[in-house]
Amino acid sequence: MTYSVPQHRNLLTALPGPRSLALQKRRTRSVSAGAGAGTLAAIYMDHGSGAILVDVDGNQLIDLGSGIGVTSFGHALPEVAAAAAAQAAKLTHTLFTVTPYENYVRVAEKLNAITPGDFEKRSILVNTGAEAVENAVKIARKFTGRRAIVVLDHAFHGRTNLTMAMTYRPWPERAGMGPFPGEIYSAPVSFPYRDGLSGREAAERTIDYIVTHIGASEVAAFVVEPIQGDGGINIPAPGYFQRISEFCTEHGIVFIADEIQAGLGRTGTWFSIEHHGVVPDLVTTAKAIAGGFPLAAVTGRAEIMDSVQPGGIGGTFGGNPVSTAAALAVFDLIERDDLIARAREVERMLWSRIGNWPSTYDVVGDVRGQGAMFGVELVVPGTTAPNPAALRTIIDHATSHGVIVLDAGSWDSVLRLLPSVVISAELIDDAATVIEETLALLSTAVPK
Ligand SMILES: *Cc1c(COP(=O)(O)O)cnc(C)c1O
Repeated sequence: MTYSVPQHRNLLTALPGPRSLALQKRRTRSVSAGAGAGTLAAIYMDHGSGAILVDVDGNQLIDLGSGIGVTSFGHALPEVAAAAAAQAAKLTHTLFTVTPYENYVRVAEKLNAITPGDFEKRSILVNTGAEAVENAVKIARKFTGRRAIVVLDHAFHGRTNLTMAMTYRPWPERAGMGPFPGEIYSAPVSFPYRDGLSGREAAERTIDYIVTHIGASEVAAFVVEPIQGDGGINIPAPGYFQRISEFCTEHGIVFIADEIQAGLGRTGTWFSIEHHGVVPDLVTTAKAIAGGFPLAAVTGRAEIMDSVQPGGIGGTFGGNPVSTAAALAVFDLIERDDLIARAREVERMLWSRIGNWPSTYDVVGDVRGQGAMFGVELVVPGTTAPNPAALRTIIDHATSHGVIVLDAGSWDSVLRLLPSVVISAELIDDAATVIEETLALLSTAVPK
């Protein structure tokens, strides 16, 4: 692959630089304070390529966040730009439900083909992840005639009113913004680092919660992230989802995999639920699907998807011609360059570079991940207690040294790494070295 920006970190000014600082002044006077998140949000970007972002002062930063897993295959992909530009010059909008067009049908066909399950499928396209989750809930309720929705502790499903109710932590997403809709139940999840339970044991705990709090026959849908992203890159123990999926089948509950963050190749398979050998009834996708253009989808069993009356789901911009053209270009690229194999390569690079952190730095309790989706759990040295102060220090240091990283976890103690799958071993090494500078300072023991 060739990149329009050399793939290395290069700082010309302190971060944020003078142009960023000037923009930040204008921003605080013009943009709601609610749309902000600390230092990171104060470095203004101009362009990017591969795994490098270039800010308005000309600094080249290593991007280990990908806009929260959106630019999974690199920034400003020329093939995607060309497809979107060609479509924008031809036709930008008609509203698919009034005057349809082929791109929408092609994206639906593609999603039906790549999602798990050998059965007849249908898709609907919408604009955002939260909208996809809302639609999946609507469809499951319509199909089952039931109301209750089960989610898991530490889940993140979005920021609309319904999906806030499906999201675990109160701060900052929910605080002060209720009331929230009823009939949403958060059940205990399998969290191997924190509960030490086997997948089976954790599943029985989850099922017991449902049976004793809700009643299985009341539940329309069970919505899960196969890898919890915002919840701290929590990967439930082997066997957990198998048991949950059996329970759903036994009781006529629609099993929905929210693949918005972990899906579409990021974890080394098309969908992260495939690592658990489970076939969901419905799958939601968004983030990485269109190389940064807004597009999201619900895909699943035809009989469930077709149970909705015509006009019961949809929306003005859903499956926009330009976004769908971009998505088709992304799908072509994934296949042409075997980018799912690249995600597995990134996993190998990350394990070999940072897999020893828990044994080297006592401020690191755990490193876990799949593909290009990793979490580093920061703890109070010598304990398993979450250490949000350490995470803050690491993020501040990394950001001011040109490495963009993300936070995660219900206790704000997980460093989340979502690099693009095209990132090189050299960039991973350089970024890890920057992070290690703070890990060494934060650890009580001298690193071995
Ligand atoms: C980001 C995310 C959402 C919400 O997507 P938006 O496009 O921000 O509405 C939902 N579920 C998961 C798992 C996500 O990571």
